[in-house]
Amino acid sequence: MARVFNFSAGPSMLPIEVLEKAAAEMTDYAGSGMSVMEMSHRSPVYDKIIKEAEALLRQVMEIPDNYKVLFLQGGASTQFAAVALNLMNGNKKADYILSGQFSTKAYQEAQKYGDVVAAASSKDINFSAVPKTQKTDFRADADYVHMCFNNTIYGTKFSSIPDTGDIPLVADMSSCILSEPFDVSKFGMIYAGAQKNMAPAGLTVVIVREDLIGKARAETPTMLDYKVMADNDSMYNTPPCYCIYVAKLVYEWILSIGGLKEMQKRNQKKAQLLYDFLDSQSYYHAPVAKDSRSLMNVTFVTGDAELDKKFCAEAAKAGLVNLKGHRSVGGMRASIYNAMPEEGVRALVDFMQRFAKENPKA
Ligand SMILES: *Cc1c(COP(=O)(O)O)cnc(C)c1O
Repeated sequence: MARVFNFSAGPSMLPIEVLEKAAAEMTDYAGSGMSVMEMSHRSPVYDKIIKEAEALLRQVMEIPDNYKVLFLQGGASTQFAAVALNLMNGNKKADYILSGQFSTKAYQEAQKYGDVVAAASSKDINFSAVPKTQKTDFRADADYVHMCFNNTIYGTKFSSIPDTGDIPLVADMSSCILSEPFDVSKFGMIYAGAQKNMAPAGLTVVIVREDLIGKARAETPTMLDYKVMADNDSMYNTPPCYCIYVAKLVYEWILSIGGLKEMQKRNQKKAQLLYDFLDSQSYYHAPVAKDSRSLMNVTFVTGDAELDKKFCAEAAKAGLVNLKGHRSVGGMRASIYNAMPEEGVRALVDFMQRFAKENPKA
């Protein structure tokens, strides 16, 4: 079967060049006579893979030397607790910006560990825009401020980095990491589940400023202690070996096309195609405020749940799959991560036009 255009929110498309390279190296990696899946994580050949992966990620994201890069497991959701256990260690206070479901989950998890408040929220508008904040919204003695940069479910993102003054800013970047350049030095910590824009599910990347680690609470599970993981080069135990290998191929792919500036250009062009179309007609409605629109997840509805259902079913028949919106919001969501080619977005816009013509509203 031919490959489809897969608009899944995650796990999601990987670049075809990466899949083909992984396939070519599947049974005999670099003359080792075995697959990366089969080799010891302590072997010299694997050591080279994980070290290169880290070096490439540092290069791609221009990560300053005073940040640690950790390759972990447990998904972004495990970080909801890990962030609190590792970083809520001074005044045991943390401020959260609530911009959707994942940031709310992170907030609820952190509440188990200290004095945690919602400094800002856009729940009252059903998370259709991100909350605007200023420095004075945050408690000066908070150990950190937590945000979710791109809200995968609602299709919103922050257009700039919130000003938190001297308070370290922690960002869940699961669905926007590597989509455009970010100034890492503006963050105390960035974390991301890999399955949206980086690798298969099973890998979580943490980028954390060195001075913030080493002060985890006594009850922190060893496996969640960033210092332990940093001191052991992410190999305190068996890391998600194969995912890290695929991530390395993805980093190489990004460099091969010209790095994050070029990636951003391509992503902006793709998103623009969809938003321009949405703004040009009235059959579909895009519920997100214009200044909060995501580059990665584009949400829209017809306004009729039955039509939405028909849209997704017929799109799938046309090779445009996984367009159903998150179960909590309904409608449609086109996730157009790095690996989605412009051709896929053009095919989606063509289909949307055809569907509107063939299915007039009563
Ligand atoms: C997908 C996602 C998560 C959850 O990730 P898991 O790896 O499944 O735990 C958290 N935050 C954001 C922004 C996401 O997109």
